[in-house]
Amino acid sequence: MKLKLIVASLFLVLGASCAEAPEPKTDNLNGAEVGARDVGAPVDVPVIETLSDQNQGFDAFKENLLNKTWELDPSFAVYVGFYQYDDILVVPNGEHRALQREFYATELQALKQFDANQLNASNATDLAIIEGRLRAQIWYIDVYRAYEWNPAQYNPAGAFGVILNTDYKPLTERLQAISRRLKSVPEYYQAAINNLKSPTLEHLSLAIQQSSGTLKMFKNLIPEKMQESELEGPLSEQLTVGLNEAATAVKSYIVWLETKQAELKENGKARNFRIGAELYEKKFKYDIESNYTAKELYNLALSAKGKLHKEMIGITEELWPTYFQDQPISDDRLVAVKQMIDHLSQKHVARDQFVNEIRRQMPIIQKYMDDNELLDSDPTRPLVVRLTPEYQRGFAGASVNAPGPYDATANTYYNISPLDDYTDQQAESYLREYNHWILQILNIHEAIPGHYTQLMHANKSPSKIKSIFANGAMVEGWAVYSERMMLENGYGDNEPEMWLMYSKWNLRVVVNTILDYGIQVLGMERDAALDMLMNEAFQERTEAEGKWRRATISQVQLTSYFSGYSEIYAFREELKQKIGDRFDLRTFHNKFLSYGNAPVAVIRKSMLAELELAQRQ
Ligand code: ZN
Ligand code: ZN
Repeated sequence: MKLKLIVASLFLVLGASCAEAPEPKTDNLNGAEVGARDVGAPVDVPVIETLSDQNQGFDAFKENLLNKTWELDPSFAVYVGFYQYDDILVVPNGEHRALQREFYATELQALKQFDANQLNASNATDLAIIEGRLRAQIWYIDVYRAYEWNPAQYNPAGAFGVILNTDYKPLTERLQAISRRLKSVPEYYQAAINNLKSPTLEHLSLAIQQSSGTLKMFKNLIPEKMQESELEGPLSEQLTVGLNEAATAVKSYIVWLETKQAELKENGKARNFRIGAELYEKKFKYDIESNYTAKELYNLALSAKGKLHKEMIGITEELWPTYFQDQPISDDRLVAVKQMIDHLSQKHVARDQFVNEIRRQMPIIQKYMDDNELLDSDPTRPLVVRLTPEYQRGFAGASVNAPGPYDATANTYYNISPLDDYTDQQAESYLREYNHWILQILNIHEAIPGHYTQLMHANKSPSKIKSIFANGAMVEGWAVYSERMMLENGYGDNEPEMWLMYSKWNLRVVVNTILDYGIQVLGMERDAALDMLMNEAFQERTEAEGKWRRATISQVQLTSYFSGYSEIYAFREELKQKIGDRFDLRTFHNKFLSYGNAPVAVIRKSMLAELELAQRQ
């Protein structure tokens, strides 16, 4: 959750990169936000014969869909570990958007030949995912049009980074792919400038900041790798020329952005970063695929906040005499809660024991889950705890690296960054945040039975569709759900301190939802936002300021944790009601996770249908 995933970092696509970081800024054109209008000419769809076996036909359809997806979006392909087009950088111009739109429309039409009722469960959910995604992509191109207002989406650095740092073929060959890829960089930025009709100031400053990182890629990171390689002669010269031209192109993009920024500040005509109710509801619908509307979720979050506060106040009153003896408790009970949290946070591991402690805890948490029969595990696919590889560092933090669909036998890693680069003061603040209790919750979230366990289950019935187009709300929602589920089943001995810290942690995802909707739809201002984060969610100022900024440049994504969590929890309770004594937690969890990274609403529908069928027989 609080995982600071490196921006544009390289392994986000598949589910488990947690991270409260902003949505990845990459040149991932297929990442929905690039498009053109007026290009939806009717497409000739071949007449489709009735397939004797719908499943067979659908498998072929999916394979074809993915292959065309990689062809149209080689950078996206690189992120998921498909390297056939690694030497192509697509120029994000109107012509390319037209191609993409046509592709989505054709596939959507072709999808009609399949009937969910005739497909097996895995394919039926794949069908729902594909259809949702195709509709979303068309909407992003026709209506949302972020390519006109978000200059930060033009950033080719991420995919270059993956090619540079992933060992899928010899370095000299990867450098040659980079060399061919570089040829399109100047055109790429020209297309960006042509597209950007109405940038917001917030995205302008983000783009300026990120583009200087991109410059570093061309001026330092790639040349450094070149030194290590055996690339020589004309190939080496070609690469050098390409790098210089790319660097020049980035520099002029930065100049253009700065000029635009000055001009818009001067004339006050910048587009408002707030997307407003209409776009927000739609984006929420497409990205989250929830049973709730965004507004319903917002109201749910408001009441969750009230409930958490009430519980935290109760625990604080109970614990007060133990920790503060005769010191009077503040009448402002939220102030007292904050004091209690600060006091308890002093209990944390020593700086040099941070990584060891996580290593020590993993088998203990695993055993708790096994002994209490909460969920199946698979000892043949162990989690490997390791130090975060150097090139992925940049923040202390933790993340899970799961194998991609094209590399399914690879290990799952739990990456922990050591606190080496921190000053004493920074390390202390970090360790207080990840104190004795929260560190355990972090391990549950990231690993067991959170992200690692969920992905392990998903991989049992491998679906490329579900891993590539993973529903972020389901993946993050599961990890958040697993925290509470463990505590409800006695992990941590029902210690009040554990519940208090859990509540603080959970409050973060609740206020993320309030903040996002509040800012994007209801016009919440900075002061009110900071006040809520600091005084009602007990966050430090730096964290609160970071969150404000993030909520001005991303939309909807901040709600995914809470929406997934709420829906999974509500569905579990619904099922308990429905089947009474026959409800078994472990069976529910195994079954739920067997659907892979599908939207919770889709899983719910399938599980209820199956249940109904079983009851009729
Ligand atoms: Zn997470
Ligand atoms: Zn300390």
